[in-house]
This record gives sequence, C-alpha cells and structure tokens, in this order.
Amino acid sequence: MNTMPHEATQGRSQVDSSPSGGLTRSDRSGGPLVRFAGVQKTYDGLSLVVRSLDLDIQRGEFLSLLGPSGSGKTTTLMMLAGFESPTAGEILLDGSPITRTPPHKRNFGMVFQNYALFPHLSVADNVAYPLTVRKVPKGDIATRVAKALDMVQLVGKGERLPGQLSGGQQQRVALARALVFEPQLVLMDEPLGALDKQLREHMQIELKELHRKLGVTFVYVTHDQGEALTMSDRVAVFNDGLIQQIAPVEQLYETPVNRFVAGFVGDSTLLTGTVGQADGDSCELVLPTGERLTGLNINRALPGTQVLASVRPERIEPCLVKPEALGNAVQAAVTDIIYFGDHLRLRCAVNGQAPATVKLPLAGGLQPVVGQAVWLHIPQPYLRIYH
Ligand code: ADP
Ligand code: MG
Repeated sequence: MNTMPHEATQGRSQVDSSPSGGLTRSDRSGGPLVRFAGVQKTYDGLSLVVRSLDLDIQRGEFLSLLGPSGSGKTTTLMMLAGFESPTAGEILLDGSPITRTPPHKRNFGMVFQNYALFPHLSVADNVAYPLTVRKVPKGDIATRVAKALDMVQLVGKGERLPGQLSGGQQQRVALARALVFEPQLVLMDEPLGALDKQLREHMQIELKELHRKLGVTFVYVTHDQGEALTMSDRVAVFNDGLIQQIAPVEQLYETPVNRFVAGFVGDSTLLTGTVGQADGDSCELVLPTGERLTGLNINRALPGTQVLASVRPERIEPCLVKPEALGNAVQAAVTDIIYFGDHLRLRCAVNGQAPATVKLPLAGGLQPVVGQAVWLHIPQPYLRIYH
C-alpha cells in the first residue's frame, strides 16, 4: 500500500544556526513523514476514544491538534510517541510501520505541560541528558548543549538549577532538551498551559520562530483555538474521537465544514432557522420572524430542515437604514458597544435569536449608539448554513 523509500534520518545537523537554518531535510521522496492509517483506540474495550484516524503529517510542517478536553488529542499524540498502542490500524514513519516500535527507538523530541526537568541537575545537564543516554562523546555534548541553549536564548544560564529559573525559562530548557538530539519530529502536549498569558503569547511567537529556523516537524496539542491559529501551518480539529476538519489556518477560519468547527474556531454570530428554497451550493435561511436570507448550503440541507447559520462578526455590515438594494439583512437593535482599541464590538439583539456580535473597524465611519435600530447586512458568501 505504501511504497515510499525509507531513508536514514539520523545524524543530521538540525540544531545548527547556519544561515540556511542548518537543516538537511531528511527526505526528498515527497511522501508524508507520518501516516496514521485507520487508527482506532479504546482503553476499556467498549468506547473508541479515537474512532477512525487517517492523517498524514507533512515534513517540516507545524501541525496542531485542536479540540475540547476529552476529544482524543493526547491519545493520538501518545500513540505517535509510542506510549500507547492503537487498538486497530497502523502508524507509518517515512512509509515504514512503527506501530510496534518502542518510544525510545522512535527518537522523537517531546515537551509536555508537566514534563518536569530534573530538579537536582543543572540546566546544562538537563539539556545534555538525551545526548548522555545516547552515548554521544563528551566534547560533542558540550558543543551541542551550548548551541541548544543559544537557540532558546538561555546563554549563560547553563550552571543554574531549574528552580532558579522562571516558568517560561524552564519551559525553554525543556524545549532545548527536546531538540538537542536533533529529532526529526517534535511532539508537544499543551506545553504552555501552565504559563501566564503574557509569557504564553511570548513563547508562542518564539516556538513559531524556532520552527521556522529549524525546519523540524512539530505536532502540537492544544485546546486553545487562538494558540492553534497563531502558531500552526495546519490545524486538525478534533471532536468526539474524530478529526472534524484539517486545513491551513486561514481556510479553517474562513470555510469551516460543519457546525462544530464553525463554533469552536474563532468568533461567530449564529442564527437558527429553517431552509427555504435550496439550489445547489446556496439556499434560503428562513428565520422565525419570517425574514429570509440567502447563504451557502454547506452540508446540502434539504428545504424545511432546521439549520444553524454562522457568520464571522467582522463580515457583518451594520446599516442605519434598511439596505433595500443589498438585501440579505436582518433587523436588530444595538444593546452594547465595547471599545477594543482597534475595533468596536457591538452586541445586538435579534428577534428570536441569541445576541449577535458585530466587529466594526474604528475607521468605519458608522457611529452607533446603544438602543439604536440597525439592519445587519450579511453578504451571501459569508453566511454559512449547516444542518
Ligand atoms: P484530550 O487530550 O483531547 O483531552 P484524551 O486523549 O486525553 O483527550 O482522552 C480521550 C478520552 O480517553 C477521554 O474520555 C479520557 O477520559 C480517556 N482516556 C485518556 N487516557 C486514558 C487512560 N489512560 N485510560 C482510560 N481512559 C483514558
Ligand atoms: Mg490532553
């Protein structure tokens, strides 16, 4: 089924700060680095926590596994790491099955939320640990540890004990330890979860930068959609043991394929109603008030069925007079206006619906006031209708 050549992936110089990024990419065959083929997992023999996983991880990409708690993200990562084995299916690395390869032979770098450093070892010895167990010569170890500490901007901190560093610095030591032995794949499970917001956002940018510099493949688990969107090339959205959608971040945000993804990734304003006329890719949304809008019929809902429509708040255009010529508008009243510095966020009451959010650029010219009647124009391509 899979005939990609297996290429040697050891002994490459990835933790190298030469201008090219110091990377000799492990493979030129063009196949995925990792393939999950029909993978399932049950812990109790009854319920599948990973129901059916077919996933290709491309070389050099930053892939996030995003989803609510209990959706199967960690289980998926643990199967890739080798700490859990699939109940069914196969995991392939460079085209060769690794499903029964023990973790230490997979040679992946790992950073977990509570993947503690050795408290009694210096920072440098912590980072050196993966090299020591691999019996790398002493002289090489010192050079590579220095390089790795430089990479995570901890030069001069090598002699300290972990307890003498801040949380963010400790997490960077864990990262240096995961990268120092030049793994082709780095697995991270909520590595920034324990940090405060400011540090977390700072580390997100550093991780992204490091990924770009090294060209190593990152698989990153998070339940935080903002984090996934900021850092990733692609995001796999998990729910209920299944990937609901896997796509580059912009595509995921602009074109969610079902109501779960639409609701989980990014802010949305939601409208419920039934389908009126349906015609190929588009259909009418009939609201309980009788108002009719036209949008994209994402899952080909049939006329008369109950549907949920979503639109990104920045795509809604509020008008003070009814936009007769434009059509596709719903009547509302402004109930709250929040100033966000770069935009205004309006909360609007819509008859028979949950409150609608509208994001308005400050330069927009419209000066809404609380209590005002508005018409919310939703251009047809941005109204996505899901059964
Ligand atoms: P996530 O990382 O998305 O929060 P997990 O993969 O940790 O999800 O968990 C998926 C489901 O599997 C949950 O219902 C969880 O309770 C269950 N689960 C996870 N690990 C184990 C385990 N070692 N034994 C039994 N059940 C587990
Ligand atoms: Mg988890």
